[in-house]
This record gives sequence, structure tokens and C-alpha cells, in this order.
Amino acid sequence: PGRVRVAVRLRPRNAEDLLSDADFADCVQLQPELKRLKLRKNNWSSESYKFDEVFTGTASQKRVYEVVAKPVVESVLSGYNGTVMAYGQTGTGKTFTLGRLGKDDASERGIMVRALEDIVANVSLASDTVEISYLQLYMESIQDLLAPEKTNITINEDPKTGEVSLPGAVTVKVQDLDHFVELLQIGEGNRHAANTKLNTESSRSHAILMVYIRRSVPEKVEDDINSQDRKTKSKLPLVRKSKLLIVDLAGSERLDKSGSEGLLLEEAKFINLSLTSLGKCINALAENSPHIPTRDSKLTRLLRDSFGGSARTSLIITIGPSSRHHAETTSTIMFGQRAMKIVNVVKLKEEFDYESLCRKLETQVDHLTAEIDRQQKLRESEKYDLEKRLRDCHDSSNETRKNLVTRSELLEQKNTRLELDIEEALAELNCQKDQNSLLEDKIADLEMSLKQNKQNQLENSTYQKVLADTTQMYEKKIAELMKKLEVERAKSESAEEQLDAMKKLSDEHKKLIQHHEMENSKYQMALADTTQMYEMKITELTKQLEDEHTRFEGAQEQLDLANMLLADYQNSTLGQDETSELRLKLEEMYRLHESTVNELQSLKAEFKDQIQEKEAISEKLYAVQEKLSAEEKRRNAIEHELVNLKKGAPEGDKHFEDKKSYMKENIRGTSVLGTSASVNKSGTLRVTQSAQRATIAKICEEVGLQKIIQLLTSEDSDVQIHAVKVIANLAAEDVNQESIVEEGGLDALLTMLRSSQNATILRVASGAIANLAMNEMNQGLIMSRGGAKLLAKTASGTDDPQTLRMVAGALANLCGNEKLHTMLKEDGGIKAMLGMVRSGNSDVVAQVARGLANFAKCESRAMVQGHRKGRSLLMEDRALEWLIDNCNTTSASTRRHIELALSHLAQNEDNARDFISSGALQELQRISNESSREDIRNLAKKMLKSNPVFQGEMRLGQQ
Ligand code: ADP
Ligand code: MG
Repeated sequence: PGRVRVAVRLRPRNAEDLLSDADFADCVQLQPELKRLKLRKNNWSSESYKFDEVFTGTASQKRVYEVVAKPVVESVLSGYNGTVMAYGQTGTGKTFTLGRLGKDDASERGIMVRALEDIVANVSLASDTVEISYLQLYMESIQDLLAPEKTNITINEDPKTGEVSLPGAVTVKVQDLDHFVELLQIGEGNRHAANTKLNTESSRSHAILMVYIRRSVPEKVEDDINSQDRKTKSKLPLVRKSKLLIVDLAGSERLDKSGSEGLLLEEAKFINLSLTSLGKCINALAENSPHIPTRDSKLTRLLRDSFGGSARTSLIITIGPSSRHHAETTSTIMFGQRAMKIVNVVKLKEEFDYESLCRKLETQVDHLTAEIDRQQKLRESEKYDLEKRLRDCHDSSNETRKNLVTRSELLEQKNTRLELDIEEALAELNCQKDQNSLLEDKIADLEMSLKQNKQNQLENSTYQKVLADTTQMYEKKIAELMKKLEVERAKSESAEEQLDAMKKLSDEHKKLIQHHEMENSKYQMALADTTQMYEMKITELTKQLEDEHTRFEGAQEQLDLANMLLADYQNSTLGQDETSELRLKLEEMYRLHESTVNELQSLKAEFKDQIQEKEAISEKLYAVQEKLSAEEKRRNAIEHELVNLKKGAPEGDKHFEDKKSYMKENIRGTSVLGTSASVNKSGTLRVTQSAQRATIAKICEEVGLQKIIQLLTSEDSDVQIHAVKVIANLAAEDVNQESIVEEGGLDALLTMLRSSQNATILRVASGAIANLAMNEMNQGLIMSRGGAKLLAKTASGTDDPQTLRMVAGALANLCGNEKLHTMLKEDGGIKAMLGMVRSGNSDVVAQVARGLANFAKCESRAMVQGHRKGRSLLMEDRALEWLIDNCNTTSASTRRHIELALSHLAQNEDNARDFISSGALQELQRISNESSREDIRNLAKKMLKSNPVFQGEMRLGQQ
């Protein structure tokens, strides 16, 4: 028995995804190493699903074939039936995966071509045959793609074997791979393709490739005991028949929208009964239901064996990354999950029945044992007889000897004859014994072969166990290694941080030292100047002193001369006048001498002061030098440490690169952030969403949310754009929303809307606010800070449909909070939403319709609960007219929202007059009859019936 193997494949983002979701996260995250897929449920949570294999956007066609289809092809080659099918929304890569021909590039070949390549290589075309049919199933009619004039081909089911066949379909014997590719190309040309908006090549039909293989079985050399049986076997050559089905299913999107809830069922039935029926069968099989409704559609009749039957089956489900198709992606994943629960019983058409062989051998053993028993008994009775005869003979001989001595001769003759008889009997006995032992040997052989069979079975189970253990052990090891890698990375990061800090410190120190050195040289220069000046002054003073001294000596000499003259004059008693003159002169000289001495003293004092000053400066200089040398020492120590750290760091990096291959992705992610705009445009580098998210989380961790929010107010608009993109991405995760608001992110985003002129900033900021507006608490904050006014202003100032979509989305979210309705209306939010229809963009209209449906639903709920009365707040802004104008939109979901909004508004009796005057009543009547959804039809009918004003109006209309 084998479970249906289910793999999931994610299509890489295409140009359209890049254009419309550039600023938003994908709706799925793959964890291929865990074979898991995380599906985002909403902005608050996500759910994990396990598959047999998970292929990322970069998975090669070769690997997809080897994992998904190769095991099926191998089992088909050994005689079992097999099925490979692809399921998914249109445009997600079903045909890419199965039907790609790869004419120019062999690496692009899909599963069909690769399967045939394997089959052709493994059969011998001399003794075996490979035939194909290629069919299309559209609107419950089977058409032959190799002979397109054959339509409405019937399905035959053999009532005995249950085998399904298509006698009306052409089967073509395949000669080689080129021939097959040619056939596929012819079929493709004939394939009916109904265009959809999503992908012009997409199709509403199922394409089914059937490959029939007939192989002759090499004759078995058997140890068969029954020789007759062997003869008949060798006379009849054995053939093994098997069938491979490759099914490219129609796009699953319709099925999804009708889906499990049973909505839109009529339409889905009409367009694709087969796919709906397949879903029902899978559900029934997954739930082990006793009744599987395989007879409901042609597809399920064709696939009767493939699910829960006797074939080996692989299913590949294909999804796209865009969150625009969240609902379709979710339903595809759920389909795959249900299919994983189905168990098939694999059967070989011609097989060797070990059980009956075993039974046969056992009966033979029984038979032989009975035979041995019988022969043993026979021998014993013979022996007994012979002994008896011997005894009799003896008796009679003795008697004869005793009685008839004369007849002794005769008797002796008789006796020898009898002895001969005995010998003969013994020989026969021995012969019997030999035969017996021969039979015993045979039994032993048979027992041995039985034992060996059992041992083989035992060995198989132990191998499986060992395999499971090893797998578990490896998984554990991988988990351990990943943990280790993370620790190493953290270590390296901290080392780098330390290094940076040290570098910074060392730079600071260098600067300080330079500063000190400059100061020091300044001081030294000043000192040298002062010293020089002082020295000059000192020499000057010394010279002055010497001058004074010579003057003084001259004066003394003059004085001596004068004294001498005085004495001469006294002696002569002549010249009294001259004496007095000389005295005067002398006094004057004395005064001069005194003043000179005073001056000298004051100069000496000044000199002493200056010497003191010089000493003080020297002391200061010394202290500065001391400080400098201390700094020098510290700097040396830091440099030493730095060298040590540098020695340690690069080794660590290399270590990571060797071991941690996925680190590369992270590193790439980091570079991507800087140039994300250009990368997105060129599209050359496809960044997986997980890497981007990891990058953003890493940046957030490294830089800190607060810093990123600060960058929102940067002068540089490039920086602002990057920062707001990061915030928008973070805001998509509910765990970040609270901290973004707490750190002032909401205020910064609102400020951007208020003052920025940059189109990208306005678009991304509106998107971020739309994300934050999902959360009820944030809705109040956004409103109280004038968010609605700002969003209205942004909407009126732009014609960019993406920006309008974000603004409309944000307002639509705010509409879902009844407490904010009055304020939203007063701040012009409703008017702004209704005005955005001018862009003509269907996504914008869809958001507005969702907002109005939200608003109307909250209002009618509040009315029922009794805390609201009166005419709807939507009426004054002419929302009713808007709804009527837009209700003919082609988008089913927008139409559904509009219908819901009208139905809810009709519930309020105070709106009745508006309904009648605007013509909305007729629209409501139309909805009650024609809406594609049963629940909306019922709601509209209820509203029409329960409102007396409507009843009156309708009666009037009939009259
Ligand atoms: P479907 O059959 O599911 O409607 P297609 O196979 O036609 O989808 O794929 C739609 C488009 O996406 C095609 O242009 C195809 O080349 C492209 N595509 C699908 N899957 C991949 C992939 N794994 N890698 C690259 N391109 C892909
Ligand atoms: Mg297709």
C-alpha cells in the first residue's frame, strides 16, 4: 500500500507580481529543508503545512521530475499503474511543470517528455510496445487531441476487472522520443484554450496523456515440484500491462470560489463539473467515507484507479507567491493536504503468489509425512510378519529336527532357502530406509526455503527501521548544526562590534594624542620664547648693571679727585666759591648714585619674579609631558588588543562561510535592501521572501526600530523611501505593529502623508498605514490623529492607481469600526473613497466596495443591537448612487461586496425613501433573483419581504 505523494511547487514572482505587490510580503513562506510551507492566514498569524516535498521558485525541472514523477515511472515500468497530476490556480505553472517540451533547452523539459525519455530508454522496442493517447476533457466531453475530429469519446468500464478504457480514442505507437515530442506538439496545437484575464495561455480544460506499456516477462526458472505445471508455464509467455496517466488539470480558481461552502455551485458545475467532483472524491477519500462519488464526472471515472485505487499516484500542487491570490492559494494547499491522507493499494497485473506457493508446499509436506508414516507402518508389519515366519520356521524345523531327523537334509535345504528369503527382505528394508532418508532431506530443504522467506521479510523490516532511525538522526544533527551556526554567527557579530568599538576608541585616542602633541610643542615654543626673552633681559640688565658700575666708579674717581682738589683748595684757602660749587656737584652725584641703586634693586626683584614664573611654567610642562606618556601607554595597549582581535576575527568569518551555506542568502539579502528598487526593476535577482523578511528582521535588530523610525524624518528622500519600505514590511506583521506605533512610527507615517511630495513615499506610507489599520486599537489612534483627513488629502492629490489602492484599503479597514463611523464621515473619508472611482482601476473599486460593505454591515449590526438609529451615514455622501453605478462590475468579489452593502443598507427602514428615489430598490430586487450567491439572494429577499415601505412600493409598481 502507498500513500498519494503530494509535492508543492512555488512559481517565482512574475512581472505582474513585482508590479502590484512590490511593497508587500508574499502570502507563503517555504521551509524546503523541513518540507514545510507556512501560509499566512491574515495579518496576525500563519499556519504550517507539511508536504512530501516543497519546491521553491528556483527548483529545477530535473529535480521536480526526479522527486515527483520518477518513482511513478519506475513502478509503471515494473508493471504497476501510475498517475502524475498537477493541480493549482491558472498561471501557477501546471503546464510548465508537466507539458513543457523544452525544444530549445533540454533542461526546461517537463514531466511528460522526461517520463517518456525514461520509458523509451528502459524498454526494448523489439519485444515491448509503448503507445500513447492524448485527450482533453472540456465541459464533460472528451476530445482526442491527436485526432481532433473525434469528440465525445465514451468511457468503458470492464464490469469484472473495473478496468477503464477509451475504445474510441486513437492510440499511437511511439517509436522514439522525437516522435513523441512531435505528437505532443500536435496535441498542444489542438488543445482548446479558453483565455482568462490571468494568463492568455491558460485553460479551462483538463489535458490527459495516457501511456500504455506492454512488456514481455522473461521466463522464470523455478524450483517447481510439479513438473507438469512447469511445462505449461514455459509454453505460455507472460506479458505485463501497465498504464501511466499524466493529467494537467484545469485551473482551480473557479472551484475555489464555489468550493467547500457550496456557493456559486451552479456556475462551477456548468464550467467544470469534473474538477468539483474530483475535490469531492478527494474529500470523501481523505475522510475514509464509505461512498466515493467517482461516477459523478468523467474525470473521476477516468481517475478511478488513481486515487484510492490500485495505482501509484503523485500529485504536484502549484501556487503563486502573490498575496492577491491568497484565497486560491489557501484552497490549493488544503486540496493537497487532503490528498496526502489517501492510501492506495498497489497491484501487479501478473504477479507471483508466494502465499499459495507456501500453502502448496505445506500440503506437500503433509502429504510426504503421511507417506513416510504409512511406509514405516508397512515396514514394521512386514518385519513382524517375517519374524513370525522365521519363528514359525524355527519351530517347525526344530519340530521337524526333533521329530523327523531323517528329513533333516531336506529341512536344511529348506532352511537355507528360507535364509535367502530373509536376506532379500532385509535388502528391501534397507532400500526403504534409503528412500526414507531421501524424503527427509527434501523436507529439510523445503523447510529451509520457508525459513529463508521469513528471514527476508524480517530483514526488510529491519532495514526500514534502520532507515527511519538514520533519517531521524540526520534530522537531529542538522538541527544541532543549525543551532551551532547561529551561535557562531552571533559570536562573530559581537566580535565585529567589539572591533568597531575598539577602532573608534583608538581613533579617538590618536586624535587626543595628536592634540596633546600639538599643545606640547606649542608650550615648548612658548617656553623657548620666554626663556630667550628672559635671557635677553638678563643680559640687558647685567649690561646696565655694569654700565652703572663703571659710571659709579667714574663718579668715585671724580669724587676722589674732587676731594683731592678740595684739600688743595683748603690748603690754599683760596677759592671758597669753587668749594661750594663742588659740594653742590657732589650732592647731586650722590642723589644720582642713590637713584641708580634703587633702580637696580627693583630690577633685581623683577628678575626674581620672572625666574619664579619660569619655574611654574616648567612645572606645568612637566605635568603635561607626564600625561602625554600615560596616554601613549594606553594607546599602545589598545592597539595591541586590536591586533589580537583582528587575528581572531577573519578566521571566524571563513569558518561561517564553509559551514553555513544559507548565510549567503542573508548576506545577499542585506545588499538587496540597499538597492531593492533597482533589483526589483531588473528582476535579475530573485530574492526569496524569506530572505527579505530575514533581512528586514536583521536590520531591525541591528539598527533598532527606533532608529529606522527616525530615518523616516531624514532629509534625504532616498533614505526616507528605504525606511518607509522597511516599516511597511514590518507593519505587515502583527507582532511589529504595536512597537511601531509605540516608537512613534504611526506619527511619522502620518507626517509623511501630510508633507511629502514624493509619489513612492506617499504610496508606501499609505500601504503601511493600511497595514496598521487592520488592528482595531490602531484604528482609533489613526483617526484621532487626523489620519482620515490625511488619507483623503492623499487620495485627492494623486492619480496613481497603486497609491489609491493603498489609501482605499486603509479607509476600507477603518470602515470596519462602527465607533469611528461619524468621525470618518466628518473627516471626509467616505467622500474620498467614493471619489477614487475616477481612477477606473478595478483594484481600487474593489477596495472601496469592501469598505462600503464593511461600513453597511457594522451599521446594520449596531442597529440590531440597538445603539444606532436613523438614516445611514453613507446616504449624504451619495454612496447609494455609487453602489448602483458600479454594480455591473466584472469582478465577482467586488460585485459581491456591492450586493452585500446594498442588502445591509436595505435593512435600515430609515433608508427606505432613499432606496426608492435612487432606484436601489429595483437593484435589490434584481439581487434577490440574480445574485450568484445564495446567501446574498436570501438576505435581499428577506429585506424586501420584511420592509412594509418596500412592499407598498412594489405593489404600486405592479399596478
Ligand atoms: P498554468 O498551466 O498553471 O496555467 P503555466 O504553466 O502556463 O501555468 O505558467 C504560467 C506562466 O508562468 C508561464 O509563462 C510559465 O512559463 C511561467 N512559469 C510557471 N512556473 C514557472 C517556474 N517554476 N519557473 C519559471 N517560470 C514559470
Ligand atoms: Mg496550463
